[in-house]
Amino acid sequence: MTERRKSEEKAGFTSGLTPLQRMEIDACTLCGECLRNCPVQAVTNRPEISPPEKIRMFREFIKGTEGLKSRLFGPGRPDRRLLEDFTKALFECTTCGACGQNCTVGIFTQRLWPMLRKEMVKKGLGPIGPQADMPEAVRTTGNPYKKPAEERYSPWFPEDVGVSAKADIAYYAGCTGAYEAQPMVRGDVGVLGRIGEPFTMLPPEDEVCCGFPLFITGQHEMLEDLTKRLVGAYKSRGVKVLVCSCPCCVNIMARDWPVFYGKELPFKIRHITQFVADSIRAGRVAIKKELKERIIYHDPCYLSRGAGIIEEPRAVLRSIPGVELLEFDLHGSNSRCCGAGGAARKVFHENAIAMARLTIDEAVEKKADKLILSCPACYAKVNEAMEGYDKKVQIVDIMELVAGLI
Ligand code: SF4
Ligand code: SF4
Repeated sequence: MTERRKSEEKAGFTSGLTPLQRMEIDACTLCGECLRNCPVQAVTNRPEISPPEKIRMFREFIKGTEGLKSRLFGPGRPDRRLLEDFTKALFECTTCGACGQNCTVGIFTQRLWPMLRKEMVKKGLGPIGPQADMPEAVRTTGNPYKKPAEERYSPWFPEDVGVSAKADIAYYAGCTGAYEAQPMVRGDVGVLGRIGEPFTMLPPEDEVCCGFPLFITGQHEMLEDLTKRLVGAYKSRGVKVLVCSCPCCVNIMARDWPVFYGKELPFKIRHITQFVADSIRAGRVAIKKELKERIIYHDPCYLSRGAGIIEEPRAVLRSIPGVELLEFDLHGSNSRCCGAGGAARKVFHENAIAMARLTIDEAVEKKADKLILSCPACYAKVNEAMEGYDKKVQIVDIMELVAGLI
């Protein structure tokens, strides 16, 4: 065991938690109310990986290592099997935050679970499977998929859209959009081109990972470096507004980048639906073509619950002439995870597909002509879940749709 690992073991289980997060762990009443909307429970029905059970186990670890007995006689060593079960339950969660939304004492679980993951990673118990390869992939290629930088934009970037060397507005495509949801980022850039305000982008080798996949899997070592590289690159281009379409990128940029950067960012972060809704409201662009269809919009967890961006995508969709906008039973801040969140989709593949199919099922039941998404991870996972499935609905990204109608 290395010296670093030994000192981390001694540090107990809470050294990286805020006082509020420690209070949240104490505050859970184990009432089980949060199980109702948990998508993992919906497809597994395994209470042993539920939010109250995770909190109950974590309390035991704290008690064993930081309680009175451990202070008097030295810290105990929690059972390895329990630690492994707990870690697996933590990583099987999609970090969607629906449990926190329904929590009777207001625990902010969308933040608590990733911070507990970080604690377990410090102890060498996580991450799980291919998640452990991500830091090296980001270090060597700039993205967690280990894809070449020269293929980051070229397969999807529209030929008729120009990019400025410097501009007030910048567009960040993000790794998942660029490599796994290309119709989505193509749509983003197409709409930005139609709005007509100059925008800049970093060269593909400089548009590195925003850090979210590393953050969410508890692997935080590179986050400060990635943030400083990206913020410095946009600052040198004179950027005032950074636009991106991935809800996870928006979250880490708005919430965590200022911490890793060490001060307020020199630009604002806007999700593409905010930017386009503003542009429609200001009369800079209008959706002219009619679409006489029933469409249903899925709120991505990190966009609705995470960033509070709920009305803007609906404002964009409602501005399409002729459209009928439907809602899922669980929508807005109560939306159901598509199954792709928390980097769990590549490890707990069957859960992810089953969750995505719940979204497809409801869209089909509601007789939607199109299922509209606004997140590259949702886009990749729901499309994958449609393969070989007998229920069918057309899946379209929100900007892919808009780009075809202006
Ligand atoms: S964050 Fe989502 S998946 Fe994880 S326990 Fe809470 S409701 Fe379930
Ligand atoms: S609703 Fe909140 S207090 Fe109740 S079990 Fe879930 S996390 Fe704990």
